[in-house]
Amino acid sequence: MSKPVLSLSGVTKAYNKGRQNEVTVLRGVDLEISAGEVVALVAPSGAGKSTLLHIAGLLDLADEGLVKISDIATNGLSDRKRTRMRREDIGFIYQFHHLLPEFTAAENIVLPQLANGASRTTADARAQELLTSVGLEDRLDHRPSALSGGEQQRVAFCRALANAPRLLLADEPTGNLDPDTSDTVFEALLSLVRSTGMSALIATHNLDLAARMDRQMRLTSGHLENFFPQSAVDTKN
Ligand code: ADP
Repeated sequence: MSKPVLSLSGVTKAYNKGRQNEVTVLRGVDLEISAGEVVALVAPSGAGKSTLLHIAGLLDLADEGLVKISDIATNGLSDRKRTRMRREDIGFIYQFHHLLPEFTAAENIVLPQLANGASRTTADARAQELLTSVGLEDRLDHRPSALSGGEQQRVAFCRALANAPRLLLADEPTGNLDPDTSDTVFEALLSLVRSTGMSALIATHNLDLAARMDRQMRLTSGHLENFFPQSAVDTKN
């Protein structure tokens, strides 16, 4: 079997360590995501989803435990190497799109590719291909302010995939959208991810969306456990 694309073992994290207001968020988290696997991260607000995603995405350091990306242990890496790994191997999507307002949809996808050494021609072609794959071929030259919320978020998905990362980390990627838009935009994200064969860890409160992923994990009391949202979905009505 191929090595996991993301592997966390024994990851712990506390904020304000040693102070009166110390908060322990992760108490020994283990997780392996294989190539092409799409995993849901379900947790109530404040349970530590963002903390976990930031540690997995090398934006923050665990207090203890191992974080491996494509079998490379990241703990001892220099800041420069972590930054490079983040740029080349990991794509991020947040609840809010964070697109650059002064650039067009296509340029927002071109820029991270140029920063990663792609030529302008290659970057333009990839931006066009990605935007077309999410149904935005008529919006290439629109600035973010001229796009709907769902369209902005689809552009953000394309930007996260611009450098063809192996791993996508998403924090409530459709959490800001109304339920109908959220549903279609989430489908666009899933089909984009599945068409590339990349691995993904996607945080969501929405159990219907979680159920569409390959596997579901729940973060509670600092631990990550298997979770089967089907039962929750069935009893919802
Ligand atoms: P979630 O994404 O699940 O809402 P977070 O990972 O953002 O949760 O936060 C988990 C807990 O850690 C919360 O109680 C939050 O208040 C606390 N927390 C997050 N970041 C910090 C920080 N930089 N300093 C202190 N406490 C923090």
